[in-house]
Amino acid sequence: ERTEFMGYVHQVLDRYEMNLPETITLERQIPKGKSFVWMDRDKVTQVFDNIITNAFKYSPEGGKVRVNLDVRRHMVIISIQDEGMGIPYDKLDKIFDRFYRADRARTRKFGGTGLGLAITKELVEAHHGKIWAQSKEGRGTTILFTLPLMGSKRGRGR
Ligand code: ATP
Ligand code: MG
Repeated sequence: ERTEFMGYVHQVLDRYEMNLPETITLERQIPKGKSFVWMDRDKVTQVFDNIITNAFKYSPEGGKVRVNLDVRRHMVIISIQDEGMGIPYDKLDKIFDRFYRADRARTRKFGGTGLGLAITKELVEAHHGKIWAQSKEGRGTTILFTLPLMGSKRGRGR
């Protein structure tokens, strides 16, 4: 359905703030104004869940997770940045493959199936968006995805 995206993202993040792991700080940078996305709310919520869960899971104690929205003319770019262990450059594309886990030690330590990002990618593409990753090993990871906009209005307030 047609969704006012900034308000929606505030809602999603508010829900995380309510039971945030004590060792993690969640920051948001969301522009004011209104932008509309045609989307399946449950599916886009699953996209946020998968990416944010990873950011928490692969972050050190005291780590910051930043959610940033960049509104362009025809799309919104959502980025979720963490200060975790990062991903080697040559593995950046592979993390979106089914069952891919960056290394065995990680698999033992953190559990999971390696399906999260593969499903996330399918959901983003079903919304005609793109998803990719940037990372500096040892410094953190940023997952970025886009969603097409139906229209925007700059303005004040949420
Ligand atoms: P699950 O199916 O429970 O999500 P998972 O988290 O291992 O399992 P994905 O979410 O698909 O699987 O992620 C794939 C792999 O990419 C992870 O195993 C991890 O090695 C790497 N990865 C994903 N996000 C991050 C991140 N924020 N920081 C570091 N590594 C990451
Ligand atoms: Mg995961």
